[in-house]
Amino acid sequence: MRRLQVISRNQRKTASRLIRFKRNAGDYMSPVFLSAMYIGRFAPSPSGRLHFGSLVAALGSYLRARHENGRILLRIEDLDFYRCKKEYTNLIINELHTLGFEYDGIPYIQSEHTDVYLEKAKELIYKGEAYYCHCTRAMRKQEPCHCKELHLQQTENTNYALNYEVHDVCNNTFEDELLGKVHCEYKTHELTLIRTDRVISYNLGCVVDDILEGVTEIVRGADLIDITPAQLSLYSSFNKNAPRYLHLPLIMQDSERKLSKQNHSPAVLDLASPQKLLITGLKFLNQETEDFNEDMSVYKILSKAVDRFCIENISKRPLLMIKLQHSQ
Ligand code: GLU
Repeated sequence: MRRLQVISRNQRKTASRLIRFKRNAGDYMSPVFLSAMYIGRFAPSPSGRLHFGSLVAALGSYLRARHENGRILLRIEDLDFYRCKKEYTNLIINELHTLGFEYDGIPYIQSEHTDVYLEKAKELIYKGEAYYCHCTRAMRKQEPCHCKELHLQQTENTNYALNYEVHDVCNNTFEDELLGKVHCEYKTHELTLIRTDRVISYNLGCVVDDILEGVTEIVRGADLIDITPAQLSLYSSFNKNAPRYLHLPLIMQDSERKLSKQNHSPAVLDLASPQKLLITGLKFLNQETEDFNEDMSVYKILSKAVDRFCIENISKRPLLMIKLQHSQ
């Protein structure tokens, strides 16, 4: 205790980050270096194998972090135990390895840390920011929910959802490193943090982990733009500064549907060689690839792509998927 009083706030922050890194990433870095460092992450959900959209998100987050001489973490967002499967977790980790991505530390598997999210959810309940709700969808359609005032308690015999009322902390607008000022059309008024079936939500898990892992910038697909203001509200409820955001262009299957597992996008590694996939992904990010070919190793392609990475080149608009096929 006495020791903590003689070190500055910044040193304390750095020390606690260091402890976290030792715990999460299982390795060591100098505190001085760490405090100013870029920390990025790639956070796939294992509800299927990697599709081309997730490959581009993996590529964008990796290139950006490594180009900034930063750290890049891999987090498996598998809290939805109905949609996510352990076999996909293993497959995704192997696929990323095959593609040449080298992450710092070991992959962080969210389902192994549910106690952390439950603890953080409790923090919001104590602050009066999260509340249990017993309304069914049908009830909500008929009249507005008043559960916040009821102060319901969850017991072993109840199946209440835990909800969070989103604060308008940013006027539904945020600054994006690629897109500039983004005003979201869709406004989220309420988030479910824990569902009635006890599944912990993506939003709670994601914000808690980005805070705990000290993520300084989130690079992800533009499909998550609209939820960003609600996540910013969660940061403010946890009294934390939000990271920077960089949303990559959506990859569309056709003029209406984005590439996603729900739209049955194929597993990307079934379509082409890892080298070809990287080169195609880089082309989507509008990076220079003229001197790349399929005879190069994935490591060589990635390391050159890291050196010349240029975010200004990336399109600000959605892109249409092309047909990928193994060369015969
Ligand atoms: N797990 C999310 C997905 O696979 C990504 C979340 C994020 O990057 O914030 O779409």
